[in-house]
Amino acid sequence: MIAPGDTIDPHLESWVSVSPGSDFPIQNLPFGVFVRDGRARIGVAIGEQILDLSETADAGFLDDAGERELLQAPVLNPLLAAGTGTWRALRERLSALLRVGGDAALREVNVERFFCRQDEVEMRLPMEIGDYVDFYSSIEHATNLGRLFRPDAEALLPNWRWLPVGYHGRSSTVLIDGTPVRRPCGQRKAPSDTEPEFGASRRLDIELEVGFIEGPGNQLGRPIPVRDAAEHIFGLVLVNDWSARDIQAWEYQPLGPFLGKSFATTISPWIVTLDALEPFRVQGPVQDPQPLSYLRVDERWAYAISLAVDIRTQQMEERGISPQTISQTTFAGMYWNLAQQLAHATANGAVTRPGDLFASGTISGSEPGSQGSLIELTWNGERPIALADGENRRFLEDGDEVTLRGWCERRGARRIGFGAARGRVEPA
Ligand code: CA
Repeated sequence: MIAPGDTIDPHLESWVSVSPGSDFPIQNLPFGVFVRDGRARIGVAIGEQILDLSETADAGFLDDAGERELLQAPVLNPLLAAGTGTWRALRERLSALLRVGGDAALREVNVERFFCRQDEVEMRLPMEIGDYVDFYSSIEHATNLGRLFRPDAEALLPNWRWLPVGYHGRSSTVLIDGTPVRRPCGQRKAPSDTEPEFGASRRLDIELEVGFIEGPGNQLGRPIPVRDAAEHIFGLVLVNDWSARDIQAWEYQPLGPFLGKSFATTISPWIVTLDALEPFRVQGPVQDPQPLSYLRVDERWAYAISLAVDIRTQQMEERGISPQTISQTTFAGMYWNLAQQLAHATANGAVTRPGDLFASGTISGSEPGSQGSLIELTWNGERPIALADGENRRFLEDGDEVTLRGWCERRGARRIGFGAARGRVEPA
């Protein structure tokens, strides 16, 4: 019997080879969906390998940790619906099978059947996403965007410090890492123009975000209180909420983002569970004014996740120049946290279902170079970013590839990471 919390012990080692600095040591064990022999399967990343849970369950190695059908589904939704008891039992079982000095059952059989290399398979979206919500929970980002979009008004609107502002995005255009992003067309109108015109966006941008995945969901009329949030949140992924600023600026009032956002949202393929992130839980920022009672949290609900945005232009790639990091920031400083976001999203009795995606909103810090979008980093294009090959960027050009990365490290814990969320811009 393995004690709870044992799976994050920094001294654990796997008998599967894990290189130093890997995002996926045995303390992580993130869940994803990959294609093998023409069939989508659930897997867990370990080092550079994937443990195929479909095969592992089929061989009977996971019978103590949930029904085989959950693990042989082509998506994670049935497992998400099963809840924290099943998730934790499965995680503990997987850790025992993969660790040095654990249960040797898997190691002693023909392991080729159970593993494949991450770089040899195609990843899929890990779950069917019924609903996708995007929040706006970084006070630095909301302040910067307020200044840029409404220069003559108060940067933060009066509701911002009272509730986690959000909008419903388009779940059917959530894309897995590596999917190309076509430059969108739409209506755009500069303030000086008398009429709008239709055409390809000239101000294509990224938004660096972290999203959480809903587990069991709730029933109509039954809000999820902040104290129950941990029973509902399966894990986190990186999210790039691609944004066409010219389309957005013209369309967004009075009902919020629409076609300037709905053309593409990229997520990283591996869902890092809350259990794996436990060593990196930290106290979030002080909230002033104190939130209304349904949004008050006592527990630490911020996560110290380091984040970076890399860009590689077509010319950089052709010249063999490495991707350049244009932003580095942390998730720890977000004003509104995951528990508050989920409690607020269901406070009116609205339904959430297994696999729903809730993204944080753009993550920006206050230091130069810590903003999660180009519109902030270049201050609406006024201060272009100089790239290593002599080019510069205000917004994205065709052929640019953007990579989001995320990882957690602190003394006394094993470093874990999220992998990447990549996308390359294709012409309109
Ligand atoms: Ca966003």
